[in-house]
Amino acid sequence: MAKSKVGKNDFYTIKVVCAKCQAELYKYRKEGGGELIKCYVSGIIEDYTTQKLHCPKCGQQFAREAMVHGRPAYKIIRGKVRVIGHHGKS
Ligand SMILES: [Zn+2]
Repeated sequence: MAKSKVGKNDFYTIKVVCAKCQAELYKYRKEGGGELIKCYVSGIIEDYTTQKLHCPKCGQQFAREAMVHGRPAYKIIRGKVRVIGHHGKS
């Protein structure tokens, strides 16, 4: 039997918070399952940052601007954020 996998049309909403101080950074519409390694700019529903890519509370930089598959994205710096919400298809 084929293993069930998350299709590319599956989206779910997660909250991205600072790993250090737990401040909310983004509400994000994630595509597919797996670990959050980047946020597509177009998928960000709410942006709580005041300084781009920096935590509004503790000031640490948590991501870098990048192009992923030709789309503007923020690449998460490993270990700098925590994800609250679904980690896979429920
Ligand atoms: Zn922080």
